[in-house]
Amino acid sequence: MIFLGGLGRSGTTLLERLLGELPGVVPLGEVVHLWARGVVAGELCGCGEAFPRCPFWREVGERAFGGWSRELAERVLWLRRRVDRTRRIPAVGHPDLAEYVAAYRSVYNAALQVAGGAAVVDSSKHASLAFCLAAGGVQPHVVHVVRDPRAVAHSWRRTVPRPEDGSHMTRWGAMRTSLHWSAQNLAIDLLAARGSR
Ligand SMILES: [Zn+2]
Repeated sequence: MIFLGGLGRSGTTLLERLLGELPGVVPLGEVVHLWARGVVAGELCGCGEAFPRCPFWREVGERAFGGWSRELAERVLWLRRRVDRTRRIPAVGHPDLAEYVAAYRSVYNAALQVAGGAAVVDSSKHASLAFCLAAGGVQPHVVHVVRDPRAVAHSWRRTVPRPEDGSHMTRWGAMRTSLHWSAQNLAIDLLAARGSR
């Protein structure tokens, strides 16, 4: 399981596409957003189909959970608010952490079976999720993607339409981007210092 970590607008989408060209590599996009944007909101998958009609995700949901449901997604989102926070490095053995990580593990395993691949790529990026996965025993291979913060700040200032629905992506000023850039990149460095691959 390969986890692309870093701040948004750093090139993770391009890297995921490149990795997805390799035989046996299954790119999943940002699994952290699958619950709210895919399962609950039914937004478009990268293949062009709405999430509930995407054949790949439908089969993954069947294998992992006996089908997707709003209850499942809301449960995972509730667990996320409890354990997956940048300011709260997760505690090993916390029962909510185990349940939260089990949901991701089920998605990864089902996706590998459905696609017949050897490795999945999750480009969720958030350091806090990588901490949760590592603490929960998934042992991700973390790829830390770092882009020049000036270019990242420039990108976050621009008005960018979301490919899913054309609404505008969040915009940040340079100060806010600086804080997030430092926090995310320091947190991923800390993960490496704790022995993550
Ligand atoms: Zn799809």
